[in-house]
Amino acid sequence: MTTPSQIVRASIRALSAYHVPPSSGLIKLDAMENPYALPPDLQSELTAHLATVPANRYPDAGASELKGALRHAMRIPDAFDLLLGNGSDEIIQIIAQSVAKPGATLLSVEPAFVMFRMIATFCGLDYVGVPLRADFSLDLDAVLSAIDRHKPAVIFLAYPNNPTGNLFDIESVRRIVTAAPGLVVIDEAYFAFSSRSFLDELGEYANAVLMRTVSKLGLAGLRLGLLIGRPEWIGEFEKVRLPYNLNVLTQAAATFTLRHYDVLLAQAARIVRDRADLASALGGMAGVAAYPSEANFILFRVRDAAATFEGLKARGILIKNVSVAHPLLGNCLRVTIGTPEENAAFLAALQASL
Ligand code: PMP
Repeated sequence: MTTPSQIVRASIRALSAYHVPPSSGLIKLDAMENPYALPPDLQSELTAHLATVPANRYPDAGASELKGALRHAMRIPDAFDLLLGNGSDEIIQIIAQSVAKPGATLLSVEPAFVMFRMIATFCGLDYVGVPLRADFSLDLDAVLSAIDRHKPAVIFLAYPNNPTGNLFDIESVRRIVTAAPGLVVIDEAYFAFSSRSFLDELGEYANAVLMRTVSKLGLAGLRLGLLIGRPEWIGEFEKVRLPYNLNVLTQAAATFTLRHYDVLLAQAARIVRDRADLASALGGMAGVAAYPSEANFILFRVRDAAATFEGLKARGILIKNVSVAHPLLGNCLRVTIGTPEENAAFLAALQASL
């Protein structure tokens, strides 16, 4: 009898599936979602609009209206083309599939977004993770020597980084792009909460592309990410994208909502203001050390992450325990910025759980 262990690659058998914990009944501050819904009038308009979408037809394979709405909202220069994905997760996968060949390497830093490593493994790429410094800044010399040694086909850098929340030194990022023999993907999943973007200088580099998502902006449920880059790169990746990866409801709902981009940006601005309040509250707590954040979450260290995480959960608050993800993250937890009420509930539960 044939068994999976004879057929499925050893590198896949060794993986654990990406774990999404149950959150029913809990205040959900674990996944960098925007806590705000659309205002009720827009919500009704959107619902009425979605009722007219023809689900019997395949979606627009080129998603041209949606691309137009994204270009307009995010002020994407005409010089760049767009590739859309079912979340930016899918874009990472498309890029990795496109460059995978025996001996090809995907390089990132660690700790970073875990899907960089997982998707490298799915696609049979070698993976190299260069440790950040203890303060989570880039170790430029270490990255440059890893580039020299491994000649990576592709480098992923999240800017700001997840789960640490910081922006890397921009001059170091430029040095990495210049030194890279392959493609560099700047992942701006958290651009809406960040004081800096790479978009303005993207055109200066022939080997860099920029990835974003609308997930953190209030549309996580739609699953929509975008890659911005020179037509030469986007044209290759388009060949690997499955033709109907964005369903009709996602296209219609995202196009509609992006026409009200100001509403999403106002929500993001509110989250940035509340981030400052939450950071200073965490900073004033004995036994808590919070790291600076340019994203919609805050990483903080406690004495016993597992106990604090369980204490929070017992009090109805779900955050993310990242302490086991990497040695540099010992006793670290990550909380997503919620509404002011959710943040207050989190702080009270934290105080009781330390
Ligand atoms: N990049 C980074 C850095 C992230 O943190 C995430 C979400 N956790 C993603 C990409 C994926 O986002 P999505 O697939 O929802 O677009």
